Amino acid sequence: MNIVAKRVSLRWRRTKIVATLGPASSDAKMITDLLRAGVDVVRLNMSHGTHEAHREVYDRVRAAARKLNRHVAIFADLCGPKIRCGKFPDGPLKLVPGEEVIIDPRIDKGGPGLIASQYRAIARDVQPGHRILLDDGNLELKALEIQGERIRCEVVFGGLLKDHKGINLPDSKVSASSLPPKDIADARFAIDLGVDYLALSFVRTAKDVAGLRRLIARAGASTPIIAKIETPEAMDNIEAIVEASDAIMVARGDLGIEMPAEQVPLIQRELISLARRRNRAVIVATQMLESMIDHSRPTRAEVGDVANAALSSADAVMLSAETASGKYPMRAVEIMDKVLREAEGYRWRQGSFIPPSETTHVDMNLRDGVANAAATLAHDLKLQGIIIPTLSGTTARVISSYRPTAPLVAVSTDASVCRRLSLNWGIVPMTATDSEYGNWPALCGRIARSCELTRTGHNVLLVAGFSDDTKQNSPLLQVLHV
Ligand code: PEP
Repeated sequence: MNIVAKRVSLRWRRTKIVATLGPASSDAKMITDLLRAGVDVVRLNMSHGTHEAHREVYDRVRAAARKLNRHVAIFADLCGPKIRCGKFPDGPLKLVPGEEVIIDPRIDKGGPGLIASQYRAIARDVQPGHRILLDDGNLELKALEIQGERIRCEVVFGGLLKDHKGINLPDSKVSASSLPPKDIADARFAIDLGVDYLALSFVRTAKDVAGLRRLIARAGASTPIIAKIETPEAMDNIEAIVEASDAIMVARGDLGIEMPAEQVPLIQRELISLARRRNRAVIVATQMLESMIDHSRPTRAEVGDVANAALSSADAVMLSAETASGKYPMRAVEIMDKVLREAEGYRWRQGSFIPPSETTHVDMNLRDGVANAAATLAHDLKLQGIIIPTLSGTTARVISSYRPTAPLVAVSTDASVCRRLSLNWGIVPMTATDSEYGNWPALCGRIARSCELTRTGHNVLLVAGFSDDTKQNSPLLQVLHV
């Protein structure tokens, strides 16, 4: 098989790119360049930076998107109940395997043999024998004894522990509030700013998502929620969490610390498939092009990782430090774009964007059945595109989850719906005026012309009328000659 000779180059990339902005990518020119290079969604990481700095970046992204006439989503990533150690005023603590060390939440500064914990109830959650991982799992302790609020531990894997490094408790049921005070303040700030999504870290149960949903409602908003899947407890409750969320993120950084790393690729596959079956968007995140933080070229393994995410039909792939603080933010986006396009071209030639091992959704309801039929019809009749008028975005999200081969253009009168849809697989979001909405032949004609959908053919498929309320479902499927 000659893959190179048979390369296909698609006009629209289907897998979306999320870029985290930070010191390396916060100025107006860089933001414009990144959007031009293909960033569809921007992530503001609330673990770093002030509200004022986030506001400035937010305004610049909105201005750049306006300039480029693009719909770009912005999400604020809340820290969640991330546990951290305190400071070491005399320099990093050297942990030596076999030696003992005390974790104490009543102090904020550590020293020889002593680690301060910012989480007060740590000794209530940890039991003797539990692992305590520090600094992204690079250092490991074993709890030996609970001494009131303190924990006596033995160092298993040693090294240098610096200020404020993360603490992961993979064997313990963490009882910390899912929305710490900082998250509440950050969420209110981000809602007020007008972000398109809020991402919730360290989600453990569907109740955590419901808690944030209540906060959003109290703020008078309806901001959708991305649940970050990064703990074993989340995996135990995954069906309910997916149901309660609008999208999920496979947050492989913490997931790979909290769970055996060898399980992460399989969990990733399962989560992509589950999210797709439930019509939720799924982002694959962390270390996708990690070596590009310092180098101008990714490793071959990283290229394989990005391609694999596209081949298993994730909605989006995410760059973290690569764009936030790395030396080559632009190149990272350009390379990601190329790798995704190559993988998608390959899938296109195979005639399906859905991995061959995956069948269609089980337990199809009315709208799933219509979405499946729409994807099949557009493929079999070689229709030039699927045009989806969508007031809330629901119809477009459902159609997208069937990964049709025809390009998907979602049309809404609401710009915020268009921005949110820029996260979903394959969707090209476009705005329509109120007067155009409902006059489908005229609207489809305009969309087909402006998107050049009819360069090689004349028929498009119109799909409309799905609702999250099953009683309101009135699907419309129409082949239109434009
Ligand atoms: C992760 O852990 O993979 C992740 C995306 O979360 P954060 O960057 O907030 O640690």
